[in-house]
Amino acid sequence: MAIDIDSIRDDYPILKRKVNGQPLVYLDNAATSQKPQVVIDSIIDYYSNYNANIHRGVHTLSQEATRAYEQARKKIQLHFNANHPHEIIFTSGATHGINLVASGFTGRLNQEDEIMVSEMEHHSNIVPWQMLCEKTGATLRVLPMNEDGTLNMEAYEDLLSDRTKLVFVNHVSNALGTINPIGEIIQKAHGVDAAVLIDGAQACSHIKPDLLQLDVDFYVTSAHKMGGPTGVGMLYGKDKWLNELPPYQGGGEMIKEVTFERTTYADLPHKFEAGTPNISGGIAFGVAIDHLNSIGFKNIEEYENELLEYATEKLLEIEDLTIYGPSKNKTSVISFNIEGLHPYDVGTIIDQMGIAVRTGHHCAQPIMDFYKIPGTIRASFSFYNTFEEIDSLVEALRKAIKMLT
Ligand SMILES: *Cc1c(COP(=O)(O)O)cnc(C)c1O
Repeated sequence: MAIDIDSIRDDYPILKRKVNGQPLVYLDNAATSQKPQVVIDSIIDYYSNYNANIHRGVHTLSQEATRAYEQARKKIQLHFNANHPHEIIFTSGATHGINLVASGFTGRLNQEDEIMVSEMEHHSNIVPWQMLCEKTGATLRVLPMNEDGTLNMEAYEDLLSDRTKLVFVNHVSNALGTINPIGEIIQKAHGVDAAVLIDGAQACSHIKPDLLQLDVDFYVTSAHKMGGPTGVGMLYGKDKWLNELPPYQGGGEMIKEVTFERTTYADLPHKFEAGTPNISGGIAFGVAIDHLNSIGFKNIEEYENELLEYATEKLLEIEDLTIYGPSKNKTSVISFNIEGLHPYDVGTIIDQMGIAVRTGHHCAQPIMDFYKIPGTIRASFSFYNTFEEIDSLVEALRKAIKMLT
């Protein structure tokens, strides 16, 4: 096997802890990933050795901090294969990136226009667009999903028209694990001159997207789901778009010249980076990307697929257990219910056995409405999880069923 699981697990200090007297079995990776020691060290190193504000100091510390921060931007550009470093905007996370773009389109839409969201989105890729429709009078269209948790691509073609100005879809569904055909979605949208934003928050720990090849207009993600810290993420935008959109926030760092009569804005990327950013976070984001690449996305995909297959098989041996979402073309996420049991009760009981899963609607209520359920139990696996941990999950579920029925 190409993954050396023991040495990988050694890189993650949190995996050694116990919860309720049991070894932690962390299966909530779709909500946030755990952090390898190199990422934690990079944050300590920054604050211990070269903490300073960036981009304006002439002194040594400021120059070192600026260099490290801009090197992280360059690293992110190369990883995602963008044309220019200035097309990478540091944000506080995927949510911030989506709001930045939605806000930027305010002056570009009117009552004749339509924008399109999929039925399979995280709330953070729904609500900002509803707010945009309220401000502009544009209409929100919904690209429906199929029973098997995939997108209805025939309906997509019917919904697209020359009224469509923007389409936004997640690369991978956080609630179901579905990998969406974003290449085709982007190509068809461009056929009617609509721009596309892809929410990659759930994808980037499993898949390495090639933004140039995808020809996507905007792509957002969060570092914390990729082994990086919370409070930092990136917005990629084609430089044509980023030059056209107005700034999102005003403040320091994003200006060229300020007088009370008139302010001119800084060039990209600074135009969208008002105020002092999360400097250590940006640097640590770069380190997290290096860490993922040192394991290798091909190895990650292979190993996670094995975990997924094993877990699916073991879970389906449990009576009256239903898995939601597609059976193939998905990441290592399993959303399920056990008939007659409330997800929350199951989650609470297995936490007593050290097992962390997510229960509820996973910030994707429209999906729960589609399946007419209040929520699911979601187990999401990372490359640092093991087959033994899946056995522990299954055993804990069997105990929970006994206790609750
Ligand atoms: C986690 C997630 C988000 C939100 O990310 P934040 O880091 O909370 O901004 C958006 N979309 C998807 C698909 C997600 O998984």
